Amino acid sequence: MIVPPLRAVADAWPAGMVVAVALFGLAIGSFLNVVIARVPAGRSLVRPGSACPGCSALLKWYDNIPVLSFLLLRGRCRSCGMTIAWRYPIVEVITAVVLVSGYVALGPTADFVVVVVLLPALIAITGIDMQHQLIPNAVTLPGILVGLVLNLATGRISWMESVIGILLGGGLFFVIILASRGGMGGGDLKLGAMLGAFLGWKALLFALFVAIVLGGATGVVLLATGLRGRKDPIPFGPFLAAGGAMALFWGERTFAWWIGGFGG
Ligand SMILES: [Zn+2]
Repeated sequence: MIVPPLRAVADAWPAGMVVAVALFGLAIGSFLNVVIARVPAGRSLVRPGSACPGCSALLKWYDNIPVLSFLLLRGRCRSCGMTIAWRYPIVEVITAVVLVSGYVALGPTADFVVVVVLLPALIAITGIDMQHQLIPNAVTLPGILVGLVLNLATGRISWMESVIGILLGGGLFFVIILASRGGMGGGDLKLGAMLGAFLGWKALLFALFVAIVLGGATGVVLLATGLRGRKDPIPFGPFLAAGGAMALFWGERTFAWWIGGFGG
């Protein structure tokens, strides 16, 4: 489907492909900033165009170039001088770095196509969960379907593995929510199901394992350093997102290693 043309371009122009993926990543990162700012407020992603939250001046195209505009404007609005949040260039750079890493590691493959779709979604979810302590249905619910369809279209993993992943991801969080009464919410459940759809149940187990280890370790550090109290909620979405991203690269292999009795 989408992989053969990708491979043709990569063969003809290998270095150009890396540059193209980097620029594409910056542009997607710029769009993710809009998603992070607008989806929790229920605002349209298309209209109106980007504006300064301080003075509402609409941004000219040359003030809206990923990273470059932030540097040229020295992090301030051209009209009113209000500081532009660091989040903007950081999200753009992270998206570009993650997509380039995915391309370098996986090449022009179906796995890379999944990277291009899933990782930006996970970055948006992380940004929104960190700011608002919520995981938006507007991303996770379509994500469940997109993950399943993408696996069907590319044949990367079987539809059965994907469906079992959805049920397992949703089901495990359902049990955790019932057992913990608070702490985890429906957003985590839907994100679990979405990761299952994209990754399949094997790599999903790896993602959950990584998320629990990372989340637990971070919780211990935050409590020990007094940065967070025992009652403060620590959103789990970013850890799930990190686990999901790592599972794309190492999940299947690690699962085979677990099943093989840690011998390989
Ligand atoms: Zn302004």
